[in-house]
Amino acid sequence: MSKQFEFSTRAIRTGHQRTAEGEHSEPIFATSSFVFASAAEAAARFAGDSDGNIYARFTNPTVQTFEARLATLEGGVACVATASGMAAILATCLGVLHSGDHILASQSLFGSTRMLFDKYLARFGINTDYVTLDDLDGWAAKLRPNTRLLFVETPSNPLTEMTAIAPLAMLAHDHGCLLAVDNCFATPALQRPLACGADLVIHSATKYLDGQGRCLGGAVVGDARLVGEDIYGVIRTAGPTLSPFNAWVFLKGLETLELRMLAQSRTALALAQWLDAHPKVRRVHYPGLAEHPQHHLVGTQMRVGGAVLSFEVDGGREAAWQVIDATQVLSITANLGDTKTTITHPATTTHGRLSPEARAASGIGDNLIRLAVGLEHLDDLQADLATGLALI
Ligand SMILES: *Cc1c(COP(=O)(O)O)cnc(C)c1O
Repeated sequence: MSKQFEFSTRAIRTGHQRTAEGEHSEPIFATSSFVFASAAEAAARFAGDSDGNIYARFTNPTVQTFEARLATLEGGVACVATASGMAAILATCLGVLHSGDHILASQSLFGSTRMLFDKYLARFGINTDYVTLDDLDGWAAKLRPNTRLLFVETPSNPLTEMTAIAPLAMLAHDHGCLLAVDNCFATPALQRPLACGADLVIHSATKYLDGQGRCLGGAVVGDARLVGEDIYGVIRTAGPTLSPFNAWVFLKGLETLELRMLAQSRTALALAQWLDAHPKVRRVHYPGLAEHPQHHLVGTQMRVGGAVLSFEVDGGREAAWQVIDATQVLSITANLGDTKTTITHPATTTHGRLSPEARAASGIGDNLIRLAVGLEHLDDLQADLATGLALI
Protein backbone atom coordinates (compact mmCIF):
# COMPACT_ATOMS: atom_id res chain seq x y z
CA MET A 1 0.00 0.00 0.00
CA SER A 2 1.61 3.21 -1.16
CA LYS A 3 2.60 6.27 0.83
CA GLN A 4 -0.33 8.23 -0.59
CA PHE A 5 -2.45 6.77 2.22
CA GLU A 6 -2.40 8.33 5.67
CA PHE A 7 -0.43 6.80 8.56
CA SER A 8 -3.40 5.21 10.32
CA THR A 9 -4.62 3.61 7.09
CA ARG A 10 -1.21 2.13 6.32
CA ALA A 11 -0.89 0.92 9.94
CA ILE A 12 -4.05 -1.14 9.41
CA ARG A 13 -3.89 -2.13 5.75
CA THR A 14 -0.31 -2.45 4.49
CA GLY A 15 1.40 -5.72 3.71
CA HIS A 16 -1.31 -8.35 3.70
CA GLN A 17 -1.68 -10.29 0.44
CA ARG A 18 -5.04 -12.01 0.87
CA THR A 19 -4.86 -15.74 0.08
CA ALA A 20 -7.37 -17.76 -1.95
CA GLU A 21 -9.28 -18.41 1.31
CA GLY A 22 -10.39 -14.78 1.40
CA GLU A 23 -9.41 -14.27 5.05
CA HIS A 24 -9.98 -10.80 6.48
CA SER A 25 -7.47 -10.89 9.36
CA GLU A 26 -3.86 -11.61 8.47
CA PRO A 27 -3.09 -15.37 8.65
CA ILE A 28 -0.35 -16.82 10.87
CA PHE A 29 1.84 -19.01 8.69
CA ALA A 30 2.95 -21.48 11.35
CA THR A 31 5.34 -23.38 9.15
CA SER A 32 9.08 -23.68 9.33
CA SER A 33 9.62 -24.75 5.72
CA PHE A 34 7.87 -24.33 2.38
CA VAL A 35 7.12 -26.93 -0.29
CA PHE A 36 8.34 -26.83 -3.90
CA ALA A 37 6.40 -28.10 -6.91
CA SER A 38 9.44 -30.01 -8.15
CA ALA A 39 13.10 -30.68 -7.57
CA ALA A 40 13.87 -28.17 -10.31
CA GLU A 41 11.86 -25.46 -8.53
CA ALA A 42 13.68 -26.24 -5.27
CA ALA A 43 17.01 -25.91 -7.06
CA ALA A 44 15.95 -22.60 -8.66
CA ARG A 45 14.88 -21.18 -5.28
CA PHE A 46 18.10 -22.21 -3.59
CA ALA A 47 20.14 -20.78 -6.46
CA GLY A 48 18.26 -17.50 -6.15
CA ASP A 49 16.91 -17.78 -9.70
CA SER A 50 13.28 -17.71 -8.56
CA ASP A 51 11.63 -15.78 -5.76
CA GLY A 52 9.69 -17.48 -3.01
CA ASN A 53 9.87 -18.97 0.44
CA ILE A 54 12.35 -21.68 1.36
CA TYR A 55 12.67 -21.79 5.12
CA ALA A 56 11.26 -19.59 7.87
CA ARG A 57 14.66 -18.44 9.12
CA PHE A 58 14.92 -16.68 5.72
CA THR A 59 11.33 -15.55 5.07
CA ASN A 60 7.83 -16.14 6.39
CA PRO A 61 4.74 -14.42 4.95
CA THR A 62 3.37 -13.28 8.35
CA VAL A 63 6.74 -11.84 9.28
CA GLN A 64 6.98 -10.18 5.85
CA THR A 65 3.59 -8.55 6.37
CA PHE A 66 4.87 -7.02 9.60
CA GLU A 67 8.10 -5.92 7.89
CA ALA A 68 6.23 -4.26 5.02
CA ARG A 69 3.90 -2.45 7.41
CA LEU A 70 6.62 -1.15 9.73
CA ALA A 71 8.77 -0.13 6.74
CA THR A 72 6.04 2.12 5.35
CA LEU A 73 5.23 3.60 8.77
CA GLU A 74 8.89 4.56 9.29
CA GLY A 75 9.21 5.75 5.69
CA GLY A 76 11.90 3.17 4.87
CA VAL A 77 12.40 0.92 1.88
CA ALA A 78 13.37 -2.24 3.74
CA CYS A 79 12.66 -3.71 7.15
CA VAL A 80 14.10 -6.79 8.82
CA ALA A 81 12.24 -8.24 11.79
CA THR A 82 14.19 -9.85 14.62
CA ALA A 83 13.56 -12.03 17.67
CA SER A 84 14.01 -9.10 20.10
CA GLY A 85 15.09 -5.49 20.19
CA MET A 86 18.56 -6.53 21.29
CA ALA A 87 18.76 -8.93 18.32
CA ALA A 88 17.99 -5.94 16.08
CA ILE A 89 20.86 -3.96 17.62
CA LEU A 90 23.25 -6.92 17.44
CA ALA A 91 22.30 -7.67 13.82
CA THR A 92 22.81 -4.01 12.92
CA CYS A 93 26.31 -4.05 14.41
CA LEU A 94 27.23 -7.38 12.81
CA GLY A 95 25.81 -6.22 9.49
CA VAL A 96 27.53 -2.85 9.17
CA LEU A 97 30.70 -3.03 11.34
CA HIS A 98 34.07 -4.73 11.06
CA SER A 99 36.70 -5.47 13.67
CA GLY A 100 38.58 -2.23 14.32
CA ASP A 101 35.55 -0.01 13.73
CA HIS A 102 34.46 2.48 16.36
CA ILE A 103 30.96 3.29 17.66
CA LEU A 104 29.98 6.65 19.09
CA ALA A 105 26.86 6.33 21.22
CA SER A 106 24.78 8.52 23.46
CA GLN A 107 25.71 8.30 27.13
CA SER A 108 22.21 7.57 28.32
CA LEU A 109 21.47 4.26 26.70
CA PHE A 110 19.30 1.22 27.36
CA GLY A 111 21.28 -0.94 29.85
CA SER A 112 21.61 -4.04 27.67
CA THR A 113 22.68 -1.97 24.66
CA ARG A 114 25.49 -0.52 26.69
CA MET A 115 26.45 -4.00 27.91
CA LEU A 116 26.42 -5.33 24.34
CA PHE A 117 28.79 -2.59 23.22
CA ASP A 118 31.14 -2.62 26.24
CA LYS A 119 31.32 -6.29 27.13
CA TYR A 120 30.71 -8.20 23.90
CA LEU A 121 31.48 -6.08 20.83
CA ALA A 122 34.68 -4.89 22.54
CA ARG A 123 35.88 -8.51 22.52
CA PHE A 124 35.77 -8.46 18.73
CA GLY A 125 37.73 -5.25 18.40
CA ILE A 126 34.79 -2.86 18.14
CA ASN A 127 35.09 -0.13 20.75
CA THR A 128 32.53 2.41 21.84
CA ASP A 129 32.78 5.91 23.23
CA TYR A 130 29.90 7.79 24.83
CA VAL A 131 28.75 11.36 24.38
CA THR A 132 26.14 13.52 26.08
CA LEU A 133 23.08 13.10 23.88
CA ASP A 134 22.41 16.75 23.05
CA ASP A 135 26.06 17.93 22.83
CA LEU A 136 26.70 18.20 19.07
CA ASP A 137 30.23 19.57 19.64
CA GLY A 138 30.92 16.59 21.89
CA TRP A 139 29.89 14.19 19.12
CA ALA A 140 32.14 15.99 16.64
CA ALA A 141 35.07 16.02 19.09
CA LYS A 142 34.92 12.29 19.77
CA LEU A 143 34.73 11.17 16.14
CA ARG A 144 37.72 9.07 15.10
CA PRO A 145 38.93 8.14 11.63
CA ASN A 146 37.58 4.61 12.24
CA THR A 147 34.19 5.73 13.59
CA ARG A 148 31.60 3.95 11.50
CA LEU A 149 28.37 4.14 13.51
CA LEU A 150 26.64 6.85 15.53
CA PHE A 151 24.00 5.33 17.79
CA VAL A 152 21.34 7.31 19.66
CA GLU A 153 18.17 6.85 21.63
CA THR A 154 15.88 9.85 21.53
CA PRO A 155 14.03 10.19 23.83
CA SER A 156 16.39 8.24 26.07
CA ASN A 157 15.62 5.71 28.77
CA PRO A 158 14.86 6.55 31.56
CA LEU A 159 15.57 10.31 31.58
CA THR A 160 13.75 11.15 28.31
CA GLU A 161 16.68 13.27 27.10
CA MET A 162 16.35 14.21 23.44
CA THR A 163 18.49 15.40 20.58
CA ALA A 164 17.81 16.88 17.17
CA ILE A 165 18.38 14.05 14.70
CA ALA A 166 19.03 16.10 11.54
CA PRO A 167 22.32 17.76 12.65
CA LEU A 168 23.63 14.43 13.96
CA ALA A 169 22.81 12.82 10.62
CA MET A 170 24.73 15.58 8.82
CA LEU A 171 27.70 15.13 11.12
CA ALA A 172 27.64 11.37 10.55
CA HIS A 173 27.48 11.69 6.79
CA ASP A 174 30.25 14.33 6.66
CA HIS A 175 32.49 11.73 8.28
CA GLY A 176 31.34 8.76 6.24
CA CYS A 177 29.46 7.26 9.20
CA LEU A 178 25.98 5.84 9.61
CA LEU A 179 23.43 7.17 12.07
CA ALA A 180 21.20 4.61 13.81
CA VAL A 181 18.30 5.79 15.97
CA ASP A 182 16.61 3.54 18.52
CA ASN A 183 13.04 4.80 18.04
CA CYS A 184 11.58 2.61 20.77
CA PHE A 185 10.17 5.40 22.95
CA ALA A 186 8.64 7.55 20.21
CA THR A 187 7.58 4.95 17.59
CA PRO A 188 6.81 6.08 14.03
CA ALA A 189 3.46 7.41 15.27
CA LEU A 190 5.34 10.28 16.93
CA GLN A 191 8.76 10.52 15.26
CA ARG A 192 10.28 9.35 11.97
CA PRO A 193 14.08 9.45 12.14
CA LEU A 194 14.66 8.45 8.50
CA ALA A 195 12.89 11.63 7.36
CA CYS A 196 15.39 13.57 9.53
CA GLY A 197 18.32 11.93 7.74
CA ALA A 198 19.04 8.88 9.92
CA ASP A 199 20.22 5.79 8.04
CA LEU A 200 18.76 3.13 10.30
CA VAL A 201 15.82 2.98 12.69
CA ILE A 202 15.90 0.29 15.35
CA HIS A 203 12.93 -1.01 17.32
CA SER A 204 12.21 -3.14 20.30
CA ALA A 205 8.79 -4.25 19.02
CA THR A 206 8.34 -5.71 22.51
CA LYS A 207 7.34 -2.25 23.66
CA TYR A 208 4.85 0.04 21.91
CA LEU A 209 4.57 -1.86 18.63
CA ASP A 210 3.08 -4.77 20.56
CA GLY A 211 1.50 -2.35 22.99
CA GLN A 212 0.11 -4.91 25.40
CA GLY A 213 3.23 -6.59 26.79
CA ARG A 214 2.82 -10.00 25.14
CA CYS A 215 5.73 -10.82 22.85
CA LEU A 216 9.41 -10.16 22.30
CA GLY A 217 10.51 -8.86 18.94
CA GLY A 218 12.48 -6.20 17.14
CA ALA A 219 13.15 -4.66 13.77
CA VAL A 220 15.56 -2.56 11.74
CA VAL A 221 14.29 -0.20 9.01
CA GLY A 222 16.34 1.56 6.34
CA ASP A 223 17.39 1.25 2.72
CA ALA A 224 17.54 -1.77 0.46
CA ARG A 225 21.29 -2.34 0.70
CA LEU A 226 22.04 -1.78 4.40
CA VAL A 227 18.88 -3.38 5.74
CA GLY A 228 17.67 -5.53 2.86
CA GLU A 229 21.10 -7.10 2.26
CA ASP A 230 23.70 -6.47 5.00
CA ILE A 231 21.49 -6.75 8.10
CA TYR A 232 19.05 -9.24 6.59
CA GLY A 233 22.05 -11.42 5.73
CA VAL A 234 23.01 -11.60 9.41
CA ILE A 235 19.48 -12.56 10.46
CA ARG A 236 19.00 -15.29 7.89
CA THR A 237 22.47 -16.71 8.59
CA ALA A 238 22.79 -16.30 12.36
CA GLY A 239 19.12 -16.94 13.11
CA PRO A 240 17.58 -14.38 15.53
CA THR A 241 14.47 -14.46 13.36
CA LEU A 242 11.05 -13.20 14.47
CA SER A 243 8.44 -15.92 14.97
CA PRO A 244 5.27 -15.67 12.81
CA PHE A 245 3.05 -15.71 15.89
CA ASN A 246 4.88 -12.74 17.40
CA ALA A 247 4.77 -10.96 14.03
CA TRP A 248 0.99 -11.41 13.99
CA VAL A 249 0.67 -9.94 17.50
CA PHE A 250 2.72 -6.93 16.35
CA LEU A 251 0.47 -6.52 13.28
CA LYS A 252 -2.51 -6.23 15.62
CA GLY A 253 -0.49 -3.80 17.75
CA LEU A 254 0.38 -1.56 14.80
CA GLU A 255 -3.32 -1.18 13.98
CA THR A 256 -3.86 0.78 17.23
CA LEU A 257 -0.37 2.29 17.54
CA GLU A 258 -1.25 5.88 16.73
CA LEU A 259 -4.35 5.91 18.94
CA ARG A 260 -2.44 4.43 21.85
CA MET A 261 0.59 6.70 21.52
CA LEU A 262 -1.57 9.82 21.46
CA ALA A 263 -3.79 8.74 24.36
CA GLN A 264 -0.90 7.50 26.53
CA SER A 265 1.10 10.66 25.82
CA ARG A 266 -1.88 12.77 26.90
CA THR A 267 -2.10 10.98 30.26
CA ALA A 268 1.70 11.10 30.66
CA LEU A 269 1.69 14.88 30.19
CA ALA A 270 -1.06 15.33 32.78
CA LEU A 271 0.79 13.09 35.27
CA ALA A 272 4.07 14.90 34.62
CA GLN A 273 2.43 18.25 35.33
CA TRP A 274 0.85 16.93 38.52
CA LEU A 275 4.15 15.39 39.73
CA ASP A 276 5.99 18.58 38.83
CA ALA A 277 3.78 20.50 41.25
CA HIS A 278 4.01 17.85 44.01
CA PRO A 279 6.02 18.96 47.09
CA LYS A 280 7.71 15.52 47.47
CA VAL A 281 8.97 15.50 43.91
CA ARG A 282 12.28 17.23 43.17
CA ARG A 283 12.33 16.95 39.44
CA VAL A 284 10.31 15.50 36.59
CA HIS A 285 11.86 14.40 33.30
CA TYR A 286 9.28 14.61 30.52
CA PRO A 287 9.70 16.11 27.02
CA GLY A 288 6.26 17.70 27.15
CA LEU A 289 7.14 19.94 30.11
CA ALA A 290 8.32 23.44 29.22
CA GLU A 291 11.35 23.05 31.54
CA HIS A 292 12.63 19.99 29.63
CA PRO A 293 15.93 21.06 27.99
CA GLN A 294 14.81 19.88 24.53
CA HIS A 295 11.15 20.79 24.88
CA HIS A 296 11.44 22.67 21.56
CA LEU A 297 11.66 19.31 19.77
CA VAL A 298 8.11 18.44 20.87
CA GLY A 299 5.70 19.48 18.16
CA THR A 300 8.55 19.61 15.63
CA GLN A 301 10.72 16.47 15.50
CA MET A 302 8.42 14.54 17.85
CA ARG A 303 4.67 15.01 17.54
CA VAL A 304 3.91 14.86 21.31
CA GLY A 305 5.98 13.96 24.38
CA GLY A 306 5.50 10.19 24.50
CA ALA A 307 4.31 7.94 27.31
CA VAL A 308 7.48 7.57 29.39
CA LEU A 309 8.46 9.93 32.17
CA SER A 310 10.73 9.73 35.17
CA PHE A 311 10.84 11.67 38.39
CA GLU A 312 13.15 12.17 41.36
CA VAL A 313 11.59 11.93 44.79
CA ASP A 314 12.69 13.63 47.99
CA GLY A 315 15.18 11.21 49.55
CA GLY A 316 17.14 8.27 48.22
CA ARG A 317 16.61 4.65 47.31
CA GLU A 318 14.43 3.97 50.33
CA ALA A 319 11.99 6.77 49.50
CA ALA A 320 11.82 5.67 45.86
CA TRP A 321 11.11 2.08 46.88
CA GLN A 322 8.42 3.27 49.31
CA VAL A 323 6.59 5.12 46.55
CA ILE A 324 6.88 2.09 44.26
CA ASP A 325 5.77 -0.41 46.92
CA ALA A 326 2.72 1.66 47.89
CA THR A 327 1.17 1.36 44.42
CA GLN A 328 -1.83 -0.93 43.95
CA VAL A 329 -2.78 -0.22 40.35
CA LEU A 330 0.63 0.24 38.71
CA SER A 331 2.71 -2.85 37.89
CA ILE A 332 6.19 -3.10 39.34
CA THR A 333 7.93 -4.42 36.25
CA ALA A 334 10.81 -3.43 34.02
CA ASN A 335 8.85 -3.58 30.78
CA LEU A 336 7.33 -0.52 29.14
CA GLY A 337 5.05 0.19 26.21
CA ASP A 338 2.05 -1.56 27.70
CA THR A 339 -1.53 -0.36 28.10
CA LYS A 340 -0.92 -1.23 31.78
CA THR A 341 1.12 1.50 33.47
CA THR A 342 4.46 0.22 34.77
CA ILE A 343 6.70 1.60 37.50
CA THR A 344 10.42 0.87 37.70
CA HIS A 345 13.43 1.75 39.85
CA PRO A 346 16.11 2.03 37.14
CA ALA A 347 19.15 2.20 39.46
CA THR A 348 18.49 -1.29 40.88
CA THR A 349 16.87 -2.96 37.87
CA THR A 350 17.27 -1.92 34.23
CA HIS A 351 20.47 0.01 34.93
CA GLY A 352 21.62 -2.06 37.93
CA ARG A 353 24.44 -3.75 36.03
CA LEU A 354 26.15 -0.45 35.28
CA SER A 355 28.96 0.62 37.58
CA PRO A 356 27.96 3.34 40.08
CA GLU A 357 30.23 5.74 38.12
CA ALA A 358 28.55 4.96 34.79
CA ARG A 359 25.15 5.34 36.42
CA ALA A 360 26.11 8.69 37.91
CA ALA A 361 27.48 9.85 34.54
CA SER A 362 24.13 8.91 33.00
CA GLY A 363 22.27 10.90 35.67
CA ILE A 364 20.38 7.90 37.04
CA GLY A 365 20.13 8.52 40.77
CA ASP A 366 18.84 6.23 43.50
CA ASN A 367 15.81 8.50 43.93
CA LEU A 368 14.71 8.16 40.30
CA ILE A 369 11.46 6.39 39.37
CA ARG A 370 10.39 5.65 35.82
CA LEU A 371 6.79 5.46 34.70
CA ALA A 372 5.61 4.08 31.39
CA VAL A 373 2.09 5.40 31.28
CA GLY A 374 -0.67 3.16 29.95
CA LEU A 375 -4.33 3.61 29.23
CA GLU A 376 -5.85 3.53 32.73
CA HIS A 377 -7.73 6.58 33.97
CA LEU A 378 -5.54 9.50 34.98
CA ASP A 379 -7.29 9.91 38.36
CA ASP A 380 -6.55 6.33 39.38
CA LEU A 381 -2.87 6.59 38.42
CA GLN A 382 -2.54 9.86 40.27
CA ALA A 383 -4.20 8.49 43.42
CA ASP A 384 -1.96 5.40 43.29
CA LEU A 385 1.20 7.53 43.26
CA ALA A 386 -0.16 9.98 45.83
CA THR A 387 -0.39 7.19 48.42
CA GLY A 388 3.36 6.51 48.37
CA LEU A 389 4.38 10.15 48.03
CA ALA A 390 2.43 10.93 51.22
CA LEU A 391 4.58 8.39 53.09
CA ILE A 392 7.98 9.88 52.34
C1 LIG B 1 13.67 -2.72 25.56
C2 LIG B 1 14.59 -1.89 24.80
C3 LIG B 1 15.54 -2.46 23.94
C4 LIG B 1 15.73 -3.95 23.83
O1 LIG B 1 14.60 -4.63 23.36
P1 LIG B 1 14.23 -6.15 23.71
O2 LIG B 1 13.04 -6.40 22.87
O3 LIG B 1 13.97 -6.21 25.17
O4 LIG B 1 15.40 -6.97 23.34
C5 LIG B 1 16.34 -1.61 23.21
N1 LIG B 1 16.23 -0.28 23.31
C6 LIG B 1 15.33 0.31 24.13
C7 LIG B 1 15.27 1.79 24.19
C8 LIG B 1 14.48 -0.48 24.90
O5 LIG B 1 13.62 0.11 25.72
